[in-house]
Amino acid sequence: MTPLQSGIGMTSARTRDRLVRRLQENGIQHPAVLEAIRHIPRHLFVDEALSSRAYEDTALPIGHGQTISQPWVVARMTEALIEQGKPEKVLEIGTGCGYQTAVMSGLVGEVFSVERIGALLQRARRNLRELGIRNVNFRHGDGYEGYRDKAPFDAILAAAAPAVVPEALLAQLADGGVLIIPVGESGAQRLLRIRRQGDEFHEENLGLVSFVPLRSGRI
Ligand code: SAH
Repeated sequence: MTPLQSGIGMTSARTRDRLVRRLQENGIQHPAVLEAIRHIPRHLFVDEALSSRAYEDTALPIGHGQTISQPWVVARMTEALIEQGKPEKVLEIGTGCGYQTAVMSGLVGEVFSVERIGALLQRARRNLRELGIRNVNFRHGDGYEGYRDKAPFDAILAAAAPAVVPEALLAQLADGGVLIIPVGESGAQRLLRIRRQGDEFHEENLGLVSFVPLRSGRI
């Protein structure tokens, strides 16, 4: 038996528990979020050569100049997304390899996920299919435009940072909905939670973060 099959080693339950404890020590509290992190096998989302590092609390390269998000960031954003109750319809901008998508998929109704890099989207599709996750719809497109024909959304989560909040995302937010988005130039981004109330938008700063930039166009 390989270490993977026998459940000992770098991807074992014990290794995952250690990650969950670390997230708790760093302020993540929501039991369902911690359980989702424990449950989703992050090592399946990275190249085999990196699987021994999959349960470290760090971002890791996934090719095409992109990274799988840091577990703490995924946990924090997911908490921010569900704090006021379960959103039925969620738009995600920046699917990447689908890790964040997988973590939140069990905690929301339905996910619409947009990625501009076709090759990454394909990989995300495969990863989620292998895990039996079925409430996610993928689109190869430019997240600056959102996902107009499926709007409005109860929640929108962006995994890449624009210089300013895209108008289309605000417009596609349902009344009472929240947009979780990193904003600003690299090195000085703030993670914002913007809540829509009628035509008013209330902004809350969730702290400093470091994301790849949101880029327009699809490839
Ligand atoms: N949360 C993801 C990682 C996201 S990295 C994970 O867990 O794997 C950010 C992703 O946003 C990258 O894959 C990048 O290609 C994508 N991205 C950047 N600009 C975009 C845009 N305008 N529309 C859609 N996706 C975009």
